[in-house]
Amino acid sequence: MKNDYLCPFCKGHLKVKNSVIFSARKPNGERGILLLSPELGNYSVRKHRTFKLEDGVKTDLYCPICHANLMAQNYNNNLARIISIDEYGEENIILISEIVGERCTYVIHGKQVDRFGDDEPNYFGAGTEF
Ligand SMILES: [Zn+2]
Repeated sequence: MKNDYLCPFCKGHLKVKNSVIFSARKPNGERGILLLSPELGNYSVRKHRTFKLEDGVKTDLYCPICHANLMAQNYNNNLARIISIDEYGEENIILISEIVGERCTYVIHGKQVDRFGDDEPNYFGAGTEF
């Protein structure tokens, strides 16, 4: 899959080569850059060794281009929202967890949701309407 990923606010491209790039802020205000995998269901995270993340802690994600807070308020405050565009130009909403170590990704297209990751049951129980 050769999806591109866009900021929902500025429509800037978040994917560079094989990483989706975010600016992150920990609850203590410390900021850093996170490189996530563009592959859905791959939860590898690359970052500088001095930017330490603690499992279970919410880390706010921001667009590295326009600095908008990506929190998906319309869905769940623990999730961040970006846009994917597939090779046919179709746009979908992607939701990822801002909780460090929580492995779940949701792809919303119309009223359907595709789920990825071991922790996907944590959000959007059966019968959720989009
Ligand atoms: Zn942006």
